[in-house]
Amino acid sequence: MNKKGMMVILSAPSGCGKDTVFHEISSIRNDVCESVSATTRQPREGEVDGINYFFISTEQFEEMIEKNEFLEYASYNNCYYGTPAKYASDMVESGKICFLIIERKGAQKVMKNCPDAVSIFLMPPSMKTLEKRLIKRNTETEEQILNRLKIAEEEIKSSAIFNYVVVNNELDKAVEEINEILNKELEKRNA
Ligand code: 5GP
Repeated sequence: MNKKGMMVILSAPSGCGKDTVFHEISSIRNDVCESVSATTRQPREGEVDGINYFFISTEQFEEMIEKNEFLEYASYNNCYYGTPAKYASDMVESGKICFLIIERKGAQKVMKNCPDAVSIFLMPPSMKTLEKRLIKRNTETEEQILNRLKIAEEEIKSSAIFNYVVVNNELDKAVEEINEILNKELEKRNA
């Protein structure tokens, strides 16, 4: 019998370090992959189309919605973000752990439509730390940072809807905790 894969929703406020956490996990396991989302947001310096995101126009995004090509999509900070359905389901089918690194509204849709998905909320140690990280990252205007912090407060309030909440205070510990969650959930599915 083929080993079963699974979908993992990793959600966290912007600036909480979810991409770094995923990067570390993928360096210690060879059974994980990340779904590349589509977005209408402008690329940041250094971001590459097809690797960080598929950067597409609003018209292209709405066409994909029409064709039912998204597993989920949401609007965040006045831009669309969405998970193309085919890649994630193909990966799970082939036995991989496919990470969807998405915001809360999209996460809720996946929880509803794919009840088998494991959901993890990465919690910042404090709002102050989050603010510092967003300022240090220097990729957004002051207004955008304030907006992201406002969204973060709402996201933190609904963290209880996730299967697991992991505090990202020390990177190594957060990675270890998530790695254990993956092992435990895989074991359940392949028992
Ligand atoms: P950023 O603009 O910082 O890259 O992403 C903003 C937020 O959108 C982050 O919380 C990120 O995880 C989330 N996001 C990225 N891709 C997707 C997606 O496909 N769907 C949803 N719902 N959120 C996404």
